[in-house]
Amino acid sequence: NVNQITDVDGVVHRTFNDFKMLHPDFILTFDDDLVQPALVNIRQDHLEQIIIILADNAIKYSTDRKEIHFALSKSATRVEIGVQDFGEGIESEDLARVFNRFYRVDRARSREKGGNGLGLSIAERLVKAYGGEITVESALGSGSIFTIRLPLVSEPTSDENSPL
Ligand code: ATP
Repeated sequence: NVNQITDVDGVVHRTFNDFKMLHPDFILTFDDDLVQPALVNIRQDHLEQIIIILADNAIKYSTDRKEIHFALSKSATRVEIGVQDFGEGIESEDLARVFNRFYRVDRARSREKGGNGLGLSIAERLVKAYGGEITVESALGSGSIFTIRLPLVSEPTSDENSPL
C-alpha cells in the first residue's frame, strides 16, 4: 500500500453528509468526540470505501426505524469509527460469518435487496491491511453496530519539528 496520511474526521464527515443527501428518508446522527485531528496511515479512498460499505449495509438492512448513527472517537493509540443501525440485526450464530466472502445471512430475502456478500469481506481486508480491526455487535430485531479501529499516526514531537 502507498503510504498516505489521512485526516479521519474529514473523510467520515464527508461520507456522512453524502449519505444524508442520498437518503433524505433516514435520520442520520453523528457523535463526534474527536478534539484534535485524528491522522491515520491509510489511503483516503480506502477509508472512504470502508465507511461506505458499512453505511450502505446500515441503510439496506434497516426496517421501520430509519435511523443511522455514526460515532467517532479516539484513544491514545487508535481512532474508532462506529456505524449503527436499528434494523433487522444478525443472529449470534451468523455474526462470525458476515465477514466471509459471499456469505449472506438470508439468501432468499437478501437477494431482493441485491448484493453478493462481498462488502464486509472487502472492508475487513482493507482494515486489516492498515493494521486495524473491524468488529460487530448485533441483536436480531434491534440492529447492529459495526466498529472499525485504526492505529493513529503518532504526532511528531516539538523536537522533531524544530529546524535545529
Ligand atoms: P454486497 O456484496 O453488496 O456488499 P451484502 O450486503 O450481502 O452484499 P456484505 O456487506 O458482505 O454483503 O454483508 C454480508 C451479510 O451480512 C449480508 O448479506 C447481511 O446478511 C449481513 N449484514 C451486513 N450488514 C448488516 C447490517 N447492518 N444489519 C444486518 N445484517 C447485515
